[in-house]
Amino acid sequence: MSLNDKHYHQLVSVFGSKLKADEIVYLQSDEKNVVRQLFFSNEISAVENYCSGNNLFLVKSKFKIIFSDLETGETFSNKGERVDLSDKRSGAIICYIAKDEKSSLLAALSEHQRNDQLLGELLGYPKCCIEYFLHRFGPENSNPELESIDHEENSLKNKIDLRLLDISKRDEDICLLSHFPCSWDCGESFNIAERRLLLLASKVKSRANSLEIGLQK
Ligand SMILES: [Zn+2]
Repeated sequence: MSLNDKHYHQLVSVFGSKLKADEIVYLQSDEKNVVRQLFFSNEISAVENYCSGNNLFLVKSKFKIIFSDLETGETFSNKGERVDLSDKRSGAIICYIAKDEKSSLLAALSEHQRNDQLLGELLGYPKCCIEYFLHRFGPENSNPELESIDHEENSLKNKIDLRLLDISKRDEDICLLSHFPCSWDCGESFNIAERRLLLLASKVKSRANSLEIGLQK
């Protein structure tokens, strides 16, 4: 799949954000096996159309998620309250998208059964980061983000740019990871972030550039 800027912007308008569009690029380039994204009912038909036109299997959760005023429907964590689809309140449906039906179904099932370990594995998160999430995430800590560090000093010391692991700007669509890295030294997370940046650079150069600039700030 090669994309020009116009195609990428179409992807953004279908999926609703650049981060979500990036994940679809990763999925279609085999950088990611399954994608888990939340959508409100008015957004779903465009997403379903895209998936059926591109040989992607989409499975919807059998429940929806209601967010309190302060929460947003970001895909990182399982915040929000799970309610029946018949509930009258407006909520987001979780969609699991993959190239093969089995992966989408398995991801949906594992979340339905609250098996965060299996879900994390299916979503391609490093084992160390899954462990970290399982131990740190909870009602009192729904954002187990790492404390910020002095990147300038650190990148000089380690000779690698740890800013690639920064997820603090994900609300601004500036982020390469779709999981909480377990530490600033997580090599697997760094490899994922670096691979994705290279992939985007080869597919949608303008997007890779804006991510690089955004992460340096
Ligand atoms: Zn890790």
